[in-house]
Amino acid sequence: MTGRPPRDETEADRPIGPPTPVDRLYAIVEQGLCTGCGICQSVAGPEVVRVHKVANGYERPVVVGDLDHSTVDRIYEVCPGTRIEGLPDRLVEGSTHIDPVWGPWRRIVRAWAADPVVRHEGSTGGVLTALAIYLLESGRVDLVLHARPSTTEPTFGERHMSFTRADVMAGVGARYGPTAPLVDVGEVLEMGLPFAFIGKPCDVAALRNLGRHDPRVDQLVRYMLTPVCGGYMPPAATTAFLGRMGVDPSEVTGLRYRGRGCPGPTRIETADGSTEAHYLDFWGEDESMWMLPWRCKVCPDGIGEAADLAAADTWPGGSPTREESADDPGTNAVVVRTAAGLELLEAAERDGALVVERDATPEEMSDYQPHQVRKKQAVASRYLGMLDEGRIVPVTARLRLDELAAAMPAEEQARQREGTRVRIGQGKATEPRPEAARPEVQGE
Ligand SMILES: Cc1cc2nc3c(=O)[nH]c(=O)nc-3n(C[C@H](O)[C@H](O)[C@H](O)COP(=O)(O)OP(=O)(O)OC[C@H]3O[C@@H](n4cnc5c(N)ncnc54)[C@H](O)[C@@H]3O)c2cc1C
Repeated sequence: MTGRPPRDETEADRPIGPPTPVDRLYAIVEQGLCTGCGICQSVAGPEVVRVHKVANGYERPVVVGDLDHSTVDRIYEVCPGTRIEGLPDRLVEGSTHIDPVWGPWRRIVRAWAADPVVRHEGSTGGVLTALAIYLLESGRVDLVLHARPSTTEPTFGERHMSFTRADVMAGVGARYGPTAPLVDVGEVLEMGLPFAFIGKPCDVAALRNLGRHDPRVDQLVRYMLTPVCGGYMPPAATTAFLGRMGVDPSEVTGLRYRGRGCPGPTRIETADGSTEAHYLDFWGEDESMWMLPWRCKVCPDGIGEAADLAAADTWPGGSPTREESADDPGTNAVVVRTAAGLELLEAAERDGALVVERDATPEEMSDYQPHQVRKKQAVASRYLGMLDEGRIVPVTARLRLDELAAAMPAEEQARQREGTRVRIGQGKATEPRPEAARPEVQGE
């Protein structure tokens, strides 16, 4: 990890000298590694760093106060753009299996929410929503920190605190736009209430990173649950999708990405009514068409290795078909990693919150998620390409990346490394400084 500012066209305009704290924070963004989770705002304080929508449409940190090197050091320690670790050793127990691709697991099942409304509304089979409701109603936690559709940017998600079933249902479904669930996690911890966190694997990695510096995380965050995540949609690609649908982005009042069946329709709301598309119209017919932020292309952990459990889709080959998905009620694959996750799953089944259809295997997971397998194997070579180009390379641990790369033919490793170098050279891994942001700050 270098903290070195990127070589881009704006560098020549900057004063020569050692990188300033602002240079170092912005290097994470400029080198395409910011996930937009928001934790840097929580670490630095909103009077110093604000995460909000910037000129390129992403949510990015903008320095608004005096930022010092020690604060940036702390940000590099917790940012999931610069550090991603697998499950802490203390949570890996004797009976935990370690799969080379799927990591630590105690049980893998196919399951869905027992409540038909939750299953229908859920992104896949409503497992995460059912578990969130169960956690609250069984008194295991006082609140759930997760995400809901943004109240200010209709295509985004925003951090959401749930205390009741109705609150949880307001956050049901995957948000494929920028979503920063950790912007004020320090304030949530300050409440002193036991809670569960649901966020993307990178969000979970950030919270685990914070836990190494803030003991309140281990004291209060009783469960970390995650969707398996292939990456989110860049804002420009969402705008292009809306254009293909004949919708002016400025007129969108709501965007439900999926749910109400599996995957269910992608529903765009405007003041004049609504229009629907298929999931495949949004993402493309297969993986080769997926548009992703750079950070997601080099993600070392889309499978939520640091979570208590990870919930996924179960489409063989990784994508639904138009025919078969028309009346699919939704079935999650759930990778349970910890004792707490296992106790939760089994209690939720026993108490009628979840239906477990049957146990499943890592091989089935690979069939449902071939893109996750490919990325997991390619990441170490992609990191070498980043290193070749003098880029920040995230610190990783307990993710088996070198072992997975070694399982690929040497030519494929070299191809991945070179492909990364080429893309960096083409500017595909570079973002502008977030200083180029529009001036208004969300929520003000
Ligand atoms: C960006 C993204 C990429 C994904 N890629 C894959 C993939 O490659 N393979 C796969 O199998 N599944 C993927 N999924 C997961 C899939 O869409 C389902 O979310 C998952 O199967 C859980 O289904 P569910 O019915 O249990 O979720 P639900 O019961 O609908 O619950 C979803 C929960 O996740 C929270 N949430 C939704 N979006 C976000 C977000 N952006 N940030 C933080 N929290 C959020 C919600 O608040 C809610 O609590 C992805 C999800 C997202 C958000």
